[in-house]
Amino acid sequence: MTEKCGVVGVSLDGRDAARPLYYALYALQHRGQESAGIVTHDGFQQHSHVEMGLVGDAFGEGDLDELTGAAGIGHVRYPTAGSVDSSCAQPFSVSFKSGSLGLSHNGNLVNADEIRDELAAAGHAFTSDGDTEVITHDLARNLLEEDLVRAVKHTMGRIHGSYSLTITHDDTVLGVRDPQGNRPLCIGELEDGYILASESAAIDTLDGELVRDVRPGELVVLQEDGQGFDSYQLVENENTAHCFFEHVYFARPDSVIDDTLVYEARRNLGRKLWEESGVETDVVMPVPDSGRAFASGYADAAGETTADGEARDADDDGVEFAEGLMKNRYVGRTFIMPTQDERERAVRLKLNPIKSTIEGKTVTVIDDSIVRGTTSTQLVQLLKDCGAEAVHVRIGAPAIVAPCYMGIDMATREELIASDKSVGEIRDEIAADSLAYLSTDAVADVLGKERIDLCLGCVTGEYPYDIEGEETDRDVSRPDVGGQQLPADD
Ligand code: SF4
Repeated sequence: MTEKCGVVGVSLDGRDAARPLYYALYALQHRGQESAGIVTHDGFQQHSHVEMGLVGDAFGEGDLDELTGAAGIGHVRYPTAGSVDSSCAQPFSVSFKSGSLGLSHNGNLVNADEIRDELAAAGHAFTSDGDTEVITHDLARNLLEEDLVRAVKHTMGRIHGSYSLTITHDDTVLGVRDPQGNRPLCIGELEDGYILASESAAIDTLDGELVRDVRPGELVVLQEDGQGFDSYQLVENENTAHCFFEHVYFARPDSVIDDTLVYEARRNLGRKLWEESGVETDVVMPVPDSGRAFASGYADAAGETTADGEARDADDDGVEFAEGLMKNRYVGRTFIMPTQDERERAVRLKLNPIKSTIEGKTVTVIDDSIVRGTTSTQLVQLLKDCGAEAVHVRIGAPAIVAPCYMGIDMATREELIASDKSVGEIRDEIAADSLAYLSTDAVADVLGKERIDLCLGCVTGEYPYDIEGEETDRDVSRPDVGGQQLPADD
């Protein structure tokens, strides 16, 4: 079961957390549309409301009134391929001998089955097949014998994979980011408290200030009076494995992730794309909305230098940037349509070309990715039907050649067009006049990271975690679940 989700947690000074959580979930809606939920704690009792559907549909006024308490967490979940299953909706919550736990998870464990088997053998009963419940049970077990910080450290020593978590333990709110920082999580300050969120856009929505990212391997505990937070660096790791696709595709452009404004990163990736594979055409246009920032950076760079890298003459304006495709905003991303047939129809519903921008011109169309190739094929055909003389396709990221095991419901290897085709073969299949992707080095350069500090698994086939049957790009090993990987008391 894979998922791509948004998580949030707040601790306020005396004010109910439910409404700020609800607004924050709205800001994170792009990270998950299958289910939405909030768990709060009022100092005596835990309250939970989790429903299938969008945030606006999942909560009524009365539901928020019943979620009392100044501490709480929230979650939005992405649809998985295939069936929609309410047992995996989050936050996951339990009550046990040492209090109550609520847990929201963004990411995916690669050793959840091993831990589940071990816990099941010890008598734990599971109600879902999701890995969030595995983390919750493991943490609950540790909390029977250890304080909060040691219990979290103990669980971090057993779970392997990507995770950004927001957790309530009674009325204490905490956030945890996996030792390689694969999925984002940041801390914000509000007028009367603190917030943890997948993206800083959620903090902005509440008029808060971004404080910083949660560090890889760090536990952040929000103080119960909303006055601050405590930090515990529980695991040190030599390298990080930030998901570069957060910057390219997933995150909102107005979010700041790992110190980088996503919009600016996308523009700079577009500039690199021009430097690496620019082609002189009459017009450059984005695939709305995903390609817009890339196309704007690409066109800017094209205004400064020629495709050969020479400075432009004063009377040479470079390539014209134009909006040649209009998007029907009431059709969802093709990426999340469950069947091929639905995806094919959705492309035609989604985009409408502006003929006067395209007819009789050579066109460069820019997007952030090609997954199955369906959209690109139809797009090129659409532009040629509109009278484009040539259609060049440029992609602001490397080709996706392998699936994601870290919580992104992307596609299987068989479905990915680049998994077994060269760039030339893909160009022929989508019937473009030329096709180019950005290099992985350019991505690392723009994000200001060493390649080894990024997860590039889906574009190289080498992952930063030990995944059965796959290659890794670093020295990693799974924790021995039966043993104690991290002593709980050091
Ligand atoms: S495999 Fe790709 S999508 Fe998945 S975490 Fe790594 S970079 Fe992100």
